[in-house]
This record gives sequence, C-alpha cells and structure tokens, in this order.
Amino acid sequence: MSDLSQKPVADLSEDEARAELKRLAGAIAAADIAYHQHDAPEITDAEYDELRLRNIEIEARFPGLVRIDSPSMAVGAAPAEGFAKVRHGVPMLSLTNAFSDEDVTDFVARARKFFMADILRDADFHLAFTAEPKIDGLSASLRYENGILVRGATRGDGAVGEDITENLKTIADIPHRLKGEDVPAVIEIRGEVYMTHAEFQRLKDHSARFGGQDYVNPRNTAAGSLRQKDPKITASRKLKFFAYAWGIAEDADGNAQPPAATQREVVEKFSAWGFATNPLMIRTESADDLLAHYRTIESQRATLGYDIDGVVYKLDRLDLQQRWGFVARAPRWAIAHKFPAEQATTLLTGIDIQVGRTGALTPVARLAPVTVGGVVVENATLHNEDYIKGIGNSGEPIRNGVDLRIGDTVIVQRAGDVIPQIVDVVLDKRPSSAEPFVFPHICPACGSEAVRELNEKTGKLDSIRRCTGELICPAQGIENLKHFVSRNALDIEGLGDKQVSQFYAEGRIARPADIFTLRARDERAIKKLKDADGFGAVSVKKLFDAIDARREPELDRFIFALGIRHVGETTGALLAKEFGTIEAFRDTAFAAAHHEDGHSVFPEIGGIGETVRSSIMAFFANDRNVQALDDLLAEVKPKPYVVTISADSVVAGKTVVFTGALEKMTRSEAKAMAERLGAKVAGSVSSQTDILVAGPGAGSKLKKAEELGVEVISEDEWFERVGR
Ligand SMILES: [Zn+2]
Repeated sequence: MSDLSQKPVADLSEDEARAELKRLAGAIAAADIAYHQHDAPEITDAEYDELRLRNIEIEARFPGLVRIDSPSMAVGAAPAEGFAKVRHGVPMLSLTNAFSDEDVTDFVARARKFFMADILRDADFHLAFTAEPKIDGLSASLRYENGILVRGATRGDGAVGEDITENLKTIADIPHRLKGEDVPAVIEIRGEVYMTHAEFQRLKDHSARFGGQDYVNPRNTAAGSLRQKDPKITASRKLKFFAYAWGIAEDADGNAQPPAATQREVVEKFSAWGFATNPLMIRTESADDLLAHYRTIESQRATLGYDIDGVVYKLDRLDLQQRWGFVARAPRWAIAHKFPAEQATTLLTGIDIQVGRTGALTPVARLAPVTVGGVVVENATLHNEDYIKGIGNSGEPIRNGVDLRIGDTVIVQRAGDVIPQIVDVVLDKRPSSAEPFVFPHICPACGSEAVRELNEKTGKLDSIRRCTGELICPAQGIENLKHFVSRNALDIEGLGDKQVSQFYAEGRIARPADIFTLRARDERAIKKLKDADGFGAVSVKKLFDAIDARREPELDRFIFALGIRHVGETTGALLAKEFGTIEAFRDTAFAAAHHEDGHSVFPEIGGIGETVRSSIMAFFANDRNVQALDDLLAEVKPKPYVVTISADSVVAGKTVVFTGALEKMTRSEAKAMAERLGAKVAGSVSSQTDILVAGPGAGSKLKKAEELGVEVISEDEWFERVGR
C-alpha cells in the first residue's frame, strides 16, 4: 500500500479523502498546540502550510466530507502563512569577533594606522572608542516614520527579516511614539530583545508547577516568545529591549540624517526618545581601558540580571566610521570581544550539603543563574570539604589555594555534558563580610555525627565526610534496608529490593526492626498489605512467614546485615567468632565507643584493622544506631556463635579448601560452618591441605589436589561427613 499522505488529491477515492481529512485535522491541531502553547513547533512553517493547503484542496474536491472540526472552519485559527517578509532599509550586519586581548589591541592599532595622517597632522585629533556589553538576545529593527512605530522585524538573514510588529509592540521598552522634536522623518532603530533571569525563572517555575516545556536558556525562550503568532502570548513573557544602533535615518526629503555625530551621542539620543539603553557604555581612547572595561563587565555578569556574551567596541565618530568602511559584510570600525563560551562569572549564593546513599556528605554550590555554553547553570559540584578550602585530592593547592566563600564571585566552567565546576574565584570582588565556609560535622539528613575516616594505607583523612547514622539516616535508609535483607545477610524470601523500595516509599518500614513488626502492625492496620499493589492474602502470609523464619539468624550474618561501614561478610564472621553472642559484641563495642581510648577497650582481632575498629566504634557512638539495634534485638534473637570442636567432628583440626560451584551453601556459609566444626579453611591447595571440597566446575585447585594426593570430596560427601 502506498503512503496515502503522498497521493495526489485528484487521485484520492472518497474513502481515502475521508481518511486524509481526518489525519490532517489531527496533524494541524497538534501543530497548532505545539506552536501556541509550547513555543516548540514540531514541524516547519512550510510543512504546516502544506498540510493546510492539502486540507483545503481535498475539501474543495469533496465538499460533502468537510469535517465538523475542519481546520479551515476553526474560528481564530492561526494564519495560513508565516510572518510576512520585511526588507531592511539598511542591512543588519554582523560584527567580527575578537577572542583575545591581542585581537583587541590589534583592532585599536589598525584604527591608528588607518587614521595616522590625521593623527600626525592635527594635535587635537582624537581616536575614541565606545565599549558596551553585548546582549545575548535577538536583534530586532524598528522602523519609525515621523516618530511613529510602523514596523518591527527580526534580523533574519541580515537583508530580509520577518514582520513581528505586533509582538514587538507588546514590549514595554519599545515606545510606540518617539519623544522629542529632533526625530528624523524615517529611522530604523536597532537593538536587542532579551529576557531577564528573573522572568526566565518565573516561566521555569510556572512550567515546573503546571507542567509545560523545558526552558533551556533565556535567549531561546525570548526567541520563542517573539515568534508567537498570538501577540498576547508574547506580551505575557515580559521581554525587554536595549537600543544601540540604527539602520536608515533620513529627513523628510529622503536625505541621510544621522541622529548625532558620535556613537555615544546617538545612544544618548535614543534614551531621550524613550528607549532603554545599556548603562554600561564607556568612551575611551586607550586599548587598555577597553580591556579593563571588558573585565569589569565580565565580573558583573552575575549581577546584571540578563545574559551577555561579550563586549562590543566601536569607533565613536560616525564620520570616521564612514571613512574606515566595511570588509565583506562586517564593519571595520566595530568588533565584538566574546567571553569564553564555556566559562561564565557568577555569584556563589550558598553551599548545600547533600547526603548520598552511602552516607557521604557532598557539598553543592548554589549559583546565581548564568548561561554557560547555552545552558543555564544554577549549581556546581564542590566534591568535598577540602575542595572548598582550595585543597586537591593529593593535598595539592587548587585555584591557587584560594577557598570558596558564600558571597564570592566565581568563574564557572561547563565543558560538554560534564557537571559544572567552579574553576576560579575573583578575589577582588570578595565581600569583606565573607567568612570561611564551615563544613558541617552533623548529617543534615538525620543529625548524626559525620566523620572523616583515617585511611590506614596513606595515613591521611578520607576526603569524604560520612554520616554515622547507618541504621537511622533517611538518606541511607533504603540502601541499608536492601542490604539488611540481601542474600548474604538476613536473606528473607520474598523481600527483595523491589518490595523494600515499595514498603519504604509507603512508609511501612524505615528501619530493620520495622520488618519484624510488619505482621503485627498489619493486623491492626486499616489499609492492609494484602490490598496493596502486587500483593494478595496468600503472598502476604508467605512473606510474613518468611520474615518470622528469620527471627533467629546466624550471628555472623546478623552482624554483616547491620551495614556497619567496612564490616563485610568476613569481618562479620570474625566478629561473631570473637564475641560469640550479639550481646557481647554490642556491649563491648558500645563501651569502647564511649571510652576516651576506645581502641584499648575493643579487643585486638586478627584480620580486623584500625579502619574497621574505628567505624564499628563510630557506629556504636551514635546512640540512635544503638537504639535502632536494640529495637531490632527485641524482635530478633541471633544464634550464639558456637565453635564445636567436638571429638566426633571428623574435620576438627583439618585444613579444608572449598572450590567450584557450591549448590547447598554459599562460600561464606561453607567457611563459617567448617570453622564452627574446628576446621581451618584455606584459600589455596598445598601440601598442608587435608580435604578439598570440590563442586562442579572445579579447575586448577582440583588438579593440584590430585597431584598432591589430597583427599577430594563432593559437597554431598561433606554434608554426610559433618552430619548435617
Ligand atoms: Zn545521616
């Protein structure tokens, strides 16, 4: 079947025409909505016009098929054509760009060279330049005849723009009638339409609250607002306008009549006529002054309230502009000194602390919104507290060792999709009241102490400060609960990541103890779990039974399940073996944590180093962790860890190695079991090895055991032998 939308109207059958009219009505309505309500046209104007034209043609051929919702019948439908084209009286030129200081000194040197004869001849000859911010908006041209605004147009390709008069008239900074007596008969005023940061934020907030499009940056939003077919929408966007140039300027007889003799005077005139003009324009004769003004403007970028992307320098005298002339389509007498595209200067308005799921406290810089590389940046990562102090990961100074303070003017960099970074501080602009940032030692999510660990290997403090509220911190809560029920921890059947996330979100569980009170609470609850998403009476009973079945967990698993930092399965087993009962472990760790020299209280245990001991003590120093543990122990009774080196244990004193895939137990379970029975578990086969327990897939260890004549048994034989 050929594509109906491509079939000539003359060839359409009645059924096909009906289908096409239906499709077109839908497509045109969708395009209208995209254009009017979202400022985000999904098809080009030409494609849109084509749809409407086809609709009209089909309706003309099949008048009986005209739909009730026909686009041609719609009241107040958008005009079929786009904006009318407007030829500018004088083309709107683009400027040559300068990117370095040298480009600017070259520009001034070229001017001096060109006018050298005048400079040598006349001691009073002054070559002056203006410097003003380059507004990051949209150029527009406004034609006034006898002081009345008759037409406003976009820049377009410079020669021909689009007629957006009605939209431009909604901008408060654009007078409909010029003030004063000395207005030329005809003048085209040029300037930049832009959106302030405040207005951009207002639209974004509105969009966030009521749903709507994603506004990327003020410039694009201003562009979308300006090209609205309904001027009421443009009016609602509160656009602004700065006047800074002109095109045609004629008297009543059609003779050229420049508004004044110099660039600066012309702009002053604009102001007198009723336009908004930028207050940051200066006039100077020195390249150094131009560059100094560039830096001043750059450092004010954060507080201007609107986006700028550089500074424009122009030869001030209009007669000299004329003499110097043009190269290609750009004037020789003006140049745009652009700011680096990926950097912007802004204000550091605050430092927030976020708590990650591992308890890491991460500082985030809050910035006065600034557009960098086409995107509005409002925050930047600060990594850690040393970074704020101006210290890098290896202790080296960053930003020349300058710290960051709230109120600082900072240079933000955004390269590609990388998270924006603060690359420098403008120390000259630091307010005298700015104080060094004090990094919190308390977790903002739960109020627990946050600590920096000593790295045993390097002897240095970890750069990350972490919350010690493992069991109670809401930022860490869900991850800790997932860990608590995971396979090598409590291993509760039917309670996986998905159910934990759901229960956490629904407020059914927040801490491990809550898991074991679920059944009792559910019996009393009005909204019962069996009525929740994904559950039924049978599955709920099964889940509760599975939870109850784990009320007497092995001690090593239980200690591991607590999620104490650095306490993995192996450490859990070592601690279980050392202390024998949860009470002994809890009481010793608690006493050590509350002793001024905890390390003297906590026993030395082979395989457990300084870092682990410290993090155990940090855990038990947090009273709320202890409370959460005690609440849990009210529900759960971990089995005492018994080392049974009984005479009848055939493996007591033997060295055992496990290899291959074990099917009835995890490797850590196997290890713990063998140790309970008095065996020594080794990781590799040697002449000291007594027994190798080999599961399916055993490789080099099996081979070596056979070579050494070590006894090899299967997992089943192991269980037979140990009597389980
Ligand atoms: Zn916390």
